Amino acid sequence: MVKILCVLYDDPVGGFPLEYARDSIPETPVYPGGQKAPSPAAVDFKPGDLLGCVSGELGLREFLEGKGHEFLVTASKDGLDSVFEQELSDAEIVISQPFWPAYMTADRIAKAPKLRLCVTAGVGSDHVDLEAACQRGITVAEVSYSNSISVAEHAVMMILSLVRNYLPSHEMAKSGGWNIADCSSRSYDVEGMHVGTVGAGRIGLAVLKRLRPFDTHLHYTDQHRLPEAVEKELNLCYHDCVESMVRVCDVVTINCPLHPATEHLFNQDLIYKMKRGSYLINTARGKICDRDAVADALKDRHLAGYAGDVWFPQPAPANHPWRSMPHHGMTPHVSGTTLSAQARYAAGVREILECFLAGQPIRKEYLIVQDGQLAGAGVHSYTQGNTTKGHEEAEDFQRRKRLRGGGWGGD
Ligand code: NAD
Repeated sequence: MVKILCVLYDDPVGGFPLEYARDSIPETPVYPGGQKAPSPAAVDFKPGDLLGCVSGELGLREFLEGKGHEFLVTASKDGLDSVFEQELSDAEIVISQPFWPAYMTADRIAKAPKLRLCVTAGVGSDHVDLEAACQRGITVAEVSYSNSISVAEHAVMMILSLVRNYLPSHEMAKSGGWNIADCSSRSYDVEGMHVGTVGAGRIGLAVLKRLRPFDTHLHYTDQHRLPEAVEKELNLCYHDCVESMVRVCDVVTINCPLHPATEHLFNQDLIYKMKRGSYLINTARGKICDRDAVADALKDRHLAGYAGDVWFPQPAPANHPWRSMPHHGMTPHVSGTTLSAQARYAAGVREILECFLAGQPIRKEYLIVQDGQLAGAGVHSYTQGNTTKGHEEAEDFQRRKRLRGGGWGGD
């Protein structure tokens, strides 16, 4: 019997949905480029249902309990008195999501002597101290590609909404106003703009492909250069360093993982190398940007806008400056957890568990750490190290929520 400890985000405030906006979701058996979508032996859920929250359980309970394993699901993840911390000591497998990350620090890894596998239900395993996982021989795996297109769509939406000044115009409509000049005095066309991505992997390339029909000039920087045919097809300009790219771009979109080489990459120095009036879109990880440098550059009118769905830590404290800075289009971390994405990453987690529990190899493209070193997707996209420092602030959100009796209204 294996104990599997799973941390998922809370159920909807109004209760678990009894019906959905749509009756089905399109199937995506193969991803762009040919990678096969998750292929577990079976699934015990209906694609399109809410699976990522506590009651959704990633559709795993029947499968795991049917095999005699213990499966514990909680949203209580931060602080010494959290269910997660209390239940760690005999857990062999931990499942967590970037949207509601159970930070697996070296301390917590030390408190879990039986731990053998950390699974990310989604993409991006920076909430695990990868250094400590290597040292302990713990396998870290994620469901690569499961939500890459979901995020690319969100990034494109955010680029358009910032450049076109959509959100303030929408607010105007909702509030009963009609002042066209207020809406249009910050509104531009994306056509003709120079747009660059930091990282041109699954998400970055998908963003570039989606922006091509807008007649933009496209740029990228990445330690792995794309094939010449792709550069030609999309008319891409390659930069061998991020500084060279940001100097010429009107819009910069960040699509690389958080690892020691990208932590606080967008600090004051780099942001002020961007053109005045640039837009910065970050759907990768909050910590790739310096929190105060972003807020200051907006107040200073150096950046024209900032949008994204990733923060550090998560959940973001109520007084996080990105909640209140000017000209932002932030959402909570939602881009990679559409109902469409949930069906894919829930199936991917099931596939990983089926393999692990049967002693079979996990697909290489899902691996981040194995046998004491970076492996698979981890070798391709990460550098070794730890980026979880400072996660303790997430506890503040829970503490304030408790003080408010469970409701959440900000400060
Ligand atoms: P990927 O591995 O396919 O691509 C990442 C690319 O970034 C790789 O090509 C890699 O070489 C490049 N890269 C790494 N370090 C770099 C650096 N210093 N400078 C430039 N490029 C660098 O991964 P992906 O599927 O495209 O996802 C990328 C990241 O997006 C994830 O690691 C995760 O942090 C984030 N993500 C966010 C969400 C969300 O819901 N917001 C969902 C999925 C992924």
